[in-house]
Amino acid sequence: VTPGPIPPLRLPAGLDTPALVIDLDVVEANAARMQAAMDTAGVALRPHAKTHKSVMLARLQLNAGARGITVGTTGEAEVMFRGGINDIFIAYPLWAVGSKADRLWDILDDVELRLRVGFDSIEGARRLREMMSSSARTLEVMLEVDPGNHRTGVPPERAGEIAAGAQALGLEVVGAFSHGGHSYAGPDKTAGAAADELGALTTAAAAMRAEGIEPRVLSAGSTPTALGIARAPVTEVRPGTYLLGDRTQVALGGSPPHGVAVAVAATVVSTSMPGQVVIDAGAKSLTKDIQPYLRGFGSLPAYPAAVIERLSDYHGVVRIPEGTRAPELGEVVAVAPNHVCPVVDLFDRFVATRAGETVGDPPVDARGRSG
Ligand code: PLP
Repeated sequence: VTPGPIPPLRLPAGLDTPALVIDLDVVEANAARMQAAMDTAGVALRPHAKTHKSVMLARLQLNAGARGITVGTTGEAEVMFRGGINDIFIAYPLWAVGSKADRLWDILDDVELRLRVGFDSIEGARRLREMMSSSARTLEVMLEVDPGNHRTGVPPERAGEIAAGAQALGLEVVGAFSHGGHSYAGPDKTAGAAADELGALTTAAAAMRAEGIEPRVLSAGSTPTALGIARAPVTEVRPGTYLLGDRTQVALGGSPPHGVAVAVAATVVSTSMPGQVVIDAGAKSLTKDIQPYLRGFGSLPAYPAAVIERLSDYHGVVRIPEGTRAPELGEVVAVAPNHVCPVVDLFDRFVATRAGETVGDPPVDARGRSG
C-alpha cells in the first residue's frame, strides 16, 4: 500500500526561521498508539531518546507507560539522568575508557539509577569491569547480537560463550539485544528484518541458557520492526523515531502520514531563478540524509509537487515543476524532514505547538552529546 501524503504541519505565525517545530498533540497520539500496541502484546516499551534528545519528551513517553528509556551515548545518559529519569539502557557497545568511564562512573554512583550498558566483545566487557573495580555494585550488561544488520553485535549462536565470559569477569549479564536496522533498506524489507530480530534473539537466548545464564531481558527494535517483533521471546522493544515521525518512516510504514509531528519551518528567501525557490533551511537544518526510495532532501507537504533538489549549508533549492504552485517570496513553509533524529540535533530548542499555536520552546537537552 502506498502511504498517503503527509499533511502540512500547522505553523504558528511569526517564527524565526529556520525553526524546529513539534506538534505535541501529534506526539501524544504517537506515544499512545505505540504504547497501546506494546501493552496489547504484553511487551515493555523502552523508547530510544536519541530521536528527540529532550527530557520533556522522554517524560511524556514514561507518563504514557514506557518502562524506561534507551540512549546511544554516555552523554545522553547523563543528560537524561540529570533530568530525573532513572531507568536507562545505553544500547551501544560502550568502550569505557577515559572520560567516558569517569562520566559513567559518576552517574552509576547514584543508587536511584537503574542503568544497563551494552557490549559486544569480551574486551569491551573487561573495560566495563575495570570501571567498576572500586565498587561493590555489579553492573548490569546486555549483549548485542547481530540480526543481519551487520553493524555491531555478535553472531547469535556465540551469545552463550561471550555472555559466560562477561559473567566470569564479574558483570551481570541480564540479557541480549538486537537492532533491525536493515529494515531501512526499503518497504519490502521491514517484515523480514523483524523476523530476523526474533530469530536472532531466540537463538541467543538458547545459547545463553546452554551456558546456565537465564536472559531476563530480550530487547529488540527499530521503528519499522517494532510491531513485528512485539511477541515472545522478546520482552522489550526500543523504537525511537516513531515519536516524531519523518518521511523515511512514512515510506516504510513505520509511521502513518498523520504521525509526522515535526517540521522545519523555513522562509522563502529567493525566487530569482526561474522554476525554483530557495528556502533558508539547508544542510545545517535538514541534513543531507536521503534514502533511495525518497525524492529530495525533505518535502513541502503544502506544495506536493515541489522537490528539494539541492542543499548547501544555509540554502535549500526547491524545484517547482512547471504548472504547479510555488510558495511566495517571504512565505514561511513547513518542511517534512527525511530523517528526524539528526535534524533535531541541529537545533538548540524546538517550538512546541498545539493546534498551530506556540505553547513553549523547550531545549533539545542532549543536543551535541554524541559521545
Ligand atoms: N536501538 C538501537 C541500538 C538503535 O541504533 C536505534 C536507532 O538507530 C534504535 C534502537 C531505534 O530505532 P529507530 O530509529 O528505527 O526508531
